[in-house]
Amino acid sequence: MEIIALPAEMQRWSEAARGRGQTIAFVPTMGFLHEGHLTLMREGRRRASLLVSSLFVNPTQFGPNEDFSRYPRNFERDCAMMSEVPVDVLFAPEPDVMYPPGSQTWVDVSEVTKGLCGAHRAGHFRGVTTIVAKLFNIVNPHVALFGEKDYQQLRAIERMVQDLNFPIVIVPVPIVREPDGLAMSSRNAYLSAGQRKNALALSGALRAAGDAFQAGARQPRELVEAARRWLAKTPEIEVEYVEAVDAKTLDAVDRIERPVVVAIAARLGPTRLIDNMVFAPE
Ligand code: AMP
Repeated sequence: MEIIALPAEMQRWSEAARGRGQTIAFVPTMGFLHEGHLTLMREGRRRASLLVSSLFVNPTQFGPNEDFSRYPRNFERDCAMMSEVPVDVLFAPEPDVMYPPGSQTWVDVSEVTKGLCGAHRAGHFRGVTTIVAKLFNIVNPHVALFGEKDYQQLRAIERMVQDLNFPIVIVPVPIVREPDGLAMSSRNAYLSAGQRKNALALSGALRAAGDAFQAGARQPRELVEAARRWLAKTPEIEVEYVEAVDAKTLDAVDRIERPVVVAIAARLGPTRLIDNMVFAPE
């Protein structure tokens, strides 16, 4: 696996590959890889002749009181895991290369980022869409893969690609879970054994919402209440939000007549976890 740290070099590599008629799939990550990341990469392998991944813990998507400085990092292990896939090129820039002094341009997807996590993490999605736009311009892929784990992020990136005419196909990849149902996340590394057990309440709550849906509930409120009742059984969990919204626009709906996503954000001690499930009527 080739490792490239400079945007200009990455751009040259990509231009040369395209010149040879090759296609490029791209998986951006913040590292500390797990099976979720690897699933995106393997899917990328299938969809193009070359696979590029990036590892960049993007400072602009973390709030001042968030976990940027303690975000888990293990470059050696990540490289070994990527080589196994295999990834052809890892783009791993330093922050001052991605944001040199004087940087002042932002990409802001206004509507789809308003609710859910956007309402609780000011500036987060602006940081995400800005770095993804930059990475798209640097890697110049044909396809890029994103996990449904970060559901609102996926919708924001799809919107950005459409609104800014990026000639890139966005491929969503379903959430990869631990055998007991916990959605895989780099942040799960923060959890103590007790918190890890309590974290199961998130996927449990989504299943409870699913049971309500299966039983015929068609008001979003009924799904939210079922999920909240489940979460309430674990008092150690501090719920940030539980919402059931249109799966495409993320707008509120009165009745479930099109697919809805039930999304949860909750804290276990200092660790913030998110999870979601989509429910589609016949
Ligand atoms: P991150 O390193 O957390 O920024 O994630 C990089 C990419 O992996 C994003 O597109 C995430 O949505 C995706 N991802 C993270 N966890 C999972 C998971 N459990 N299942 C599927 N995709 C995931």
